[in-house]
Amino acid sequence: MSQDSVPSGTSLENKMARLGLGSSTDEDAELMSESTPLYATYNDRIRPLLDTVDKLRQLKVMKEGIELPTIVVVGDQSSGKSSVLESLAGISLPRGIGICTRVPLVMRLQQHSSPDPELHLEYNNKEVPTDEAHVAQAIEEATKEIAGDSKGISHTPITLVVKKKSVPDLTMVDLPGITRVPVRGQPEDIYEQISNIIMEYITPKESIILNVLSATVDFPTCESIRMSQRVDRTGERTLAVVTKADQAPQGLLEKVTADDVNIGLGYVCVKNRIGEESYEEARKEEMKLFESHPLLSKIDKSIVGIPILAQKLVQIQASSLAKCLPDIVRKINDKLSFNVSELNRLPKHLSNVADAMTAFMQIIGSSKESLKKILIRGEFDEYPDEKDMHCTARMADFLNGCSQELDRSSRDSAKKFLMEEIKVLEEAKGIELPNFLPRTAFLGILQSRVKQISNTPVEFVEKVWNYIENVVVRVLTFHSESYPQLQSCTRRAAQNLISKMKNQSVDRVTEITEMEKLTDYTCNPDYMSKWTKLMAQRPSFMDNLKRNHSKLKIEDVGEVEVEHLRDYNLAMLEKAFDMRMRIIAYWEIVLQRLVDNLALHLVFSVQNLVNREMEKEIVNELMGPSGGGIERLLEESPSVAIKRERFNQSIKLLRECKEVLGNIMDRIEAATIHHVDVSF
Ligand code: GDP
Ligand code: MG
Repeated sequence: MSQDSVPSGTSLENKMARLGLGSSTDEDAELMSESTPLYATYNDRIRPLLDTVDKLRQLKVMKEGIELPTIVVVGDQSSGKSSVLESLAGISLPRGIGICTRVPLVMRLQQHSSPDPELHLEYNNKEVPTDEAHVAQAIEEATKEIAGDSKGISHTPITLVVKKKSVPDLTMVDLPGITRVPVRGQPEDIYEQISNIIMEYITPKESIILNVLSATVDFPTCESIRMSQRVDRTGERTLAVVTKADQAPQGLLEKVTADDVNIGLGYVCVKNRIGEESYEEARKEEMKLFESHPLLSKIDKSIVGIPILAQKLVQIQASSLAKCLPDIVRKINDKLSFNVSELNRLPKHLSNVADAMTAFMQIIGSSKESLKKILIRGEFDEYPDEKDMHCTARMADFLNGCSQELDRSSRDSAKKFLMEEIKVLEEAKGIELPNFLPRTAFLGILQSRVKQISNTPVEFVEKVWNYIENVVVRVLTFHSESYPQLQSCTRRAAQNLISKMKNQSVDRVTEITEMEKLTDYTCNPDYMSKWTKLMAQRPSFMDNLKRNHSKLKIEDVGEVEVEHLRDYNLAMLEKAFDMRMRIIAYWEIVLQRLVDNLALHLVFSVQNLVNREMEKEIVNELMGPSGGGIERLLEESPSVAIKRERFNQSIKLLRECKEVLGNIMDRIEAATIHHVDVSF
């Protein structure tokens, strides 16, 4: 990357300071006032810098988010913006009622030695030559071409290049004037549209705001003042030009000395060309006005007249260029190296099946590894802060939730104590001895209990698989990010596979619950010990029942009403009590067995998914009729192609900008090393 390195910012700044370009000093002012035309010597020094910036502007470096130092002319409608630019350039611009300036007009004034002026417009990628007599008309035509015939406005700028003997080297942008009320034919939101354009130009810190104020208005009420204060509160980059001094001389001196509106760079009062005056006449008139007018002549000569304005602008522009250029160099370098590395990071363009196969295997391999970590091993280094991707923990949460839900849904306090058992026992009686507990009765109760909870395990597996589907799709999408053409295929594979796994799981858990209905069995000794413990309460229960208590306490059941039991004979009640205690002892075993089974099944299926099924499914999908085969990877996706193209263009542009900057840096370097004359 050595070819992309340019002298670093700070050393450049030092060099510029030594060249006297860092800031405008008194010496500069003196130098300027001695030479004729006023700005000539100064121009020689800043001209190459300005040319460089203009070239960068032409290359559209702003597209890369790099702002250039620019003098932006703002002002309310008819405040005299175009007139000020005319005065500076010595040419006629479109003037009239309403908005004539409907697109940004970049005015590049360049001094040149030939007595014949040269003018041309640049817009829509073309260069249109013109001359002083036709420039206004040419601008109007260009405006129509860009913003249409009507009163619409546009962000697309026109550049006007004026090469003339007597102009200062300045680049300025004239913007549409601000208007609150749309005139006939203008869009309703004209104010928003115009203020958007103005904000776009004056917001960057690199912009110098030239605020054009008419002497005839109260400054604090100007829209343009309000706007510039929004982006430059202290006014450190705002210069005010007060026009129409001839129309409102009363109180002008007080207005500019009071500075009610925070203009950091000061005021310049001017009188522009009026009527059919020639440029030279206009300057003479202006001079005369500020020399002889009883009120205007009191204003300090250092803040009146177009020549002073030109001089100040040139100075401000020079120091702004010197201040910004090192930063621009740095930004261009940064942006360039960023883009180069982004370009390198784009997926390689695969050109043969072997490469495609390798890329595909890498995607599968890395997806599998990620999924193993989060779904099986519980390692979350790839997603440290995303709880959703901490799958082992989340699956444990789901399982706990399911276990709680099973508990909740098997509790039914609504039924009266022992009545279910009594009902079943009554219907199970037969021609047999009375002291047997019929097994069919027990199974009947068990089955209705299992039925009551049988939805919970199904809902559980559905919930878990939906969750896993999101996780798997996300991981696959991430790992195939560089090959969007693969993504629909991998997503489809994941979705198909998981829906298959989900169905399998539903079948499996249904089977598990069905098995619980079929028979009552456990080898777990807890059942017997629990039942024995519960049965120990039976004598006291029967006793208390005889004593006419209305409520009794029973372990693992709680307090129960017993009033309704007095209608039944004791033998039946004893049997019913026994039956209930067996159910309680056994139901605990059933629920535990269910949860244990669900847990093992889940872990087993997830392992299967990650270790075996996923890969198979994706390969099948890719090789299947709608997959397009491994060759899919050979086509570059349009989005990557667009990105690559964009980076390439941007790199080309930045390299060009760097070259432009490189030239100027070399000259500064040479000038510093050999202590040659400061003019290049
Ligand atoms: P813009 O809308 O801000 O570009 O304003 P213009 O430059 O088109 O000027 C609006 C009107 O004010 C025009 O009729 C100009 O002739 C007039 N004008 C501008 N500057 C002066 C000035 O210094 N003195 C006088 N008397 N009229 C001026
Ligand atoms: Mg105008």
